[in-house]
Amino acid sequence: MDAQTCIDRWKALQRRLEAAGVDGIVLNGGADLEYLTGYHAMPLERLTALFARTTDDKPTLLLPELEKARVTHLADAFDLMTWTELQNPVARGLEVLGDAKTISFSNDIWGTHVLSLTRLAPAAKLLTISESIGGVRAVKSPADCEALQTVGGLADQVMTMVQTGEIPLVGRTESDIATDISEHLLRVGHEKVMFVIVASGPNSASPHHHPGDRVVEADEMVLFDFGGTHKGFNSDTTRCVFTGPIPDDVQAAYDALMDAQQKAVDAASVGNRIADVDIAARSTLDAAGYGEAFVHRTGHGIGLTVHEEPYVTEANETAIVAGHAFSIEPGIYLDGKWGMRLEDIVVIGSDGTAIRCNNTNRNLLQVG
Ligand code: ZN
Ligand code: ZN
Ligand code: ZN
Repeated sequence: MDAQTCIDRWKALQRRLEAAGVDGIVLNGGADLEYLTGYHAMPLERLTALFARTTDDKPTLLLPELEKARVTHLADAFDLMTWTELQNPVARGLEVLGDAKTISFSNDIWGTHVLSLTRLAPAAKLLTISESIGGVRAVKSPADCEALQTVGGLADQVMTMVQTGEIPLVGRTESDIATDISEHLLRVGHEKVMFVIVASGPNSASPHHHPGDRVVEADEMVLFDFGGTHKGFNSDTTRCVFTGPIPDDVQAAYDALMDAQQKAVDAASVGNRIADVDIAARSTLDAAGYGEAFVHRTGHGIGLTVHEEPYVTEANETAIVAGHAFSIEPGIYLDGKWGMRLEDIVVIGSDGTAIRCNNTNRNLLQVG
């Protein structure tokens, strides 16, 4: 990442922090830091973090002394500060924040560092970055949205192989099929496979089922939900297939599911709140009699991580803006019988409407 991109991203964040009344930030070495610096810190116990006052032209990148050589190229955009093994890194970083009254920190920072913050800055008001600005990376640039489209297209190539029967199902274990899918995800251009769910028969009623030894049989539901990264951005898509003629009750439920997903996509537009997307899906499934069986939120933001802000719940009052990117994935789960989910990633385009990043067949297909 070049220095100018770093500077632009910091400036954009500065404006949001200022508007939220935040005086200083502590962003640890996860995806937030990577987004702002392009630097991937080792996810270990030693703290690497951005410490900055909202008014700083140059944020400070604090890192362990032994990793200094890895960041010299960032000196144009950041003040570099190190801590040695016997120092408390948070105490070191707080030298930058001075008497900041409101400090906001990454949601996923280690508890031990938060404890240090509360002890070393007892007068400061502490907020997670979700609480203060609703996430550092919730609003994507046009280039980020394009990256999400690209990686979505890669996952679609593999989902098409599932839907056309190119990846055989009946008679194989879920884990064998999942291994196949992982290999294909890499072959089509993902750098990393993040997760593969293959859930057959009654297992499909468990939304986060881990593929196991169960052998896929004829005449049952099989749910596929997988994703990986390309240039750091994540794909995540779900489709279901039926390994035989589709029973009427299953088809009826699926029709309601498709309707709910379409209504949620339609609701994902500027002028609405994130909550409206969840409500559109939920009320459709409620009306069709499946409300109780829809046991999770409608979706989650996605980008450099698989799950991030904005979370698509009926409580999220955030106004939808161009650059929001999230999944729309209503589901119906009947314990002991079957489950179904339909998931596409959408990005909100400059015209204010949702653009799908996944475009494989959305019907419940019969696959032999
Ligand atoms: Zn999930
Ligand atoms: Zn998914
Ligand atoms: Zn998802």
